Amino acid sequence: MEPAETPSHERSTEIASNLGEVQAAVEHSQKVQSRLVAVSKYKPGSDIMAAYNLGQRHFGENYVQELCEKSAALPADIKWHFIGRLQSNKCKALAGIPNLWAVETIDSAAKAHKMNDAWRNAGNQNQLNVFVQVNTSEEQNKGGVEKSDVESVVQEIIGSCAGLCLKGLMTIGSIEGSQKRPNPDFLALVALRDELKHSIGVDLELSMGMSDDFEHALELGATNVRVGSKIFGARPTKENAQQN
Ligand SMILES: *Cc1c(COP(=O)(O)O)cnc(C)c1O
Repeated sequence: MEPAETPSHERSTEIASNLGEVQAAVEHSQKVQSRLVAVSKYKPGSDIMAAYNLGQRHFGENYVQELCEKSAALPADIKWHFIGRLQSNKCKALAGIPNLWAVETIDSAAKAHKMNDAWRNAGNQNQLNVFVQVNTSEEQNKGGVEKSDVESVVQEIIGSCAGLCLKGLMTIGSIEGSQKRPNPDFLALVALRDELKHSIGVDLELSMGMSDDFEHALELGATNVRVGSKIFGARPTKENAQQN
């Protein structure tokens, strides 16, 4: 491993303490077995290695180029989740990452097809896990499929994207919603999951909950939580991160 990827003792201790707390909260939520995705955007490879050395394997990234660089430099048994806004012209680069474990932000049937074609053209033999991102808060600028269109996107993935494995539904939710208990965005995702189970018989996971509300999300049945700053600390701005 490059020296640059070796975390300092101090930093390792800090991440160990944070990660330990979050992992314990995820494990103790016995409602369902849930997966912790450590969100490492803007954070250096050495931070990822500190968490990796403690057994963490699922990591989430928002930017394709950053993910490509990190995945090339870091261990091959990391399970990467792409959680950023998905652009059609970036599907090919994503599909070139052999240990990409999931794309959590499929936001249209067209994008599902793009990702499916890219994944198969890259020669991957396994299926790529995907989550359909839902705009549960119905905000204009929020990414994700409108609730009324989710069933058709789900059907499209199951019916005609053989390279993809439909894993579940994902939401980010609104800032106002994240301050309410229960969080209405999480409730909306749970309700959609239940409807789809009833209407087309699929069992879907729920990716919801971030640093400030992952414990609440777990109580409502999240099976995949995406936690960044609670593990790695506050993030630098994009500009500062790029100077590193
Ligand atoms: C950045 C990000 C997270 C992690 O946010 P924190 O508040 O730092 O835990 C989770 N999900 C998505 C989609 C993100 O972009």
